[in-house]
Amino acid sequence: MSAVLYRRARLLSVSPADSSVSVINNAALLLDDGVIRFAGSSADLPRRLTRKLPSVDLKQQLITPGFIDCHTHAVFAGNRAHEFAQRLAGASYVDIAKAGGGIQSTVRSTAGSSVATLVRDALPRLLALRADGVRGVEIKSGYGLSFAAEKRMLLAASAAAKQANLRVQRTYLGLHALPAECKTPRARKAFVHAVCGEWLPKLHALGLVDAIDAFLENIGFSSIEVRQLFDTARRLRIPIKLHAEQLSNSEGAALAAQYCALSADHLEYLSPRGVRAMRAANMTAVLLPGAFYCLKEKKLPPIKALRKHRVPMAVSTDLNPGTSPLSSIRLAMHMACTFFGLSVAEALCGVTCHAAKALGWSDMGQLREGFDANALVWAIDDPAEIVYWLGSLHAPVSLSDCA
Ligand SMILES: [Zn+2]
Repeated sequence: MSAVLYRRARLLSVSPADSSVSVINNAALLLDDGVIRFAGSSADLPRRLTRKLPSVDLKQQLITPGFIDCHTHAVFAGNRAHEFAQRLAGASYVDIAKAGGGIQSTVRSTAGSSVATLVRDALPRLLALRADGVRGVEIKSGYGLSFAAEKRMLLAASAAAKQANLRVQRTYLGLHALPAECKTPRARKAFVHAVCGEWLPKLHALGLVDAIDAFLENIGFSSIEVRQLFDTARRLRIPIKLHAEQLSNSEGAALAAQYCALSADHLEYLSPRGVRAMRAANMTAVLLPGAFYCLKEKKLPPIKALRKHRVPMAVSTDLNPGTSPLSSIRLAMHMACTFFGLSVAEALCGVTCHAAKALGWSDMGQLREGFDANALVWAIDDPAEIVYWLGSLHAPVSLSDCA
């Protein structure tokens, strides 16, 4: 790809230091080989950079960084629409789980699927995210629950993201749920041992693991079990993430901070101690308002405390078949504002610079020299419109498609 100069643009500048945004009018953007070489006011553009370059007039359209959806479970087979209908008819989560539904139904269908089937099913979801402005995505495993099935999920994550033209982080969610056949304490112990002692090192050796994750919760895994996974990850130098404080306070964020994790995610029940630990460890808080909404949760994450302690807040869809069948990052932003009280600027930083930080990506999420050139063009006047409109109106186009 050769160099192209984009002129007469309005650039959205996001500031990770204080979660603010500003618009640079009469701006220019110089892209070369997928990388930003210049982004800023046209007046500051060095003449020597632009000699003989093809240029595109953007007619003062708004340009933003490509969005990053930093917490998804986008690879799975089947769906749980019938359970949604059952719940509307009065069935409880417990009734549905007893009848073999819930996460175990997704595990059965996913674990029994080939890589090709998983890719086929995930692709429309990833394309929906892309149409909404997503250019980078995190995809977790965790519905396979055996070495072979988790491996298929991670392979499918790579292949589906490639087909959707998205950058991907593949996260091995080793401790997500217990296989249905693990009914005794001894079987549980053997499963955790296999995940931490055998499967993670093997999947890592195959080059399939960019990060690890676990579900620390009363109905998930204990801090003692999660520590085993974290210890292996630290030994293998694999970045760490954690589902923490979603349904109760288990001080998971503080545990993750001890391991210098990238992020703790959900956080409705995050304690003041957890907030301080996250700040001290330079972690990102990933907010998932889609799950909050679907579960009709009442407890809000401690936004004011996170803000006060300057913990960066990312916003993500948590796209999954059970608690957040949400494939719109813009709707997740809208929910983060309406339910959690984020400002428009915080929501925009939440899907750009802070989402990049939640994945450990240091070259995406900002329009800056040296950063990824996957930028978006919006036919809107005010950046707040990105968050304001509900539905697919004013969907962005790729900057590279403007010629
Ligand atoms: Zn999740």
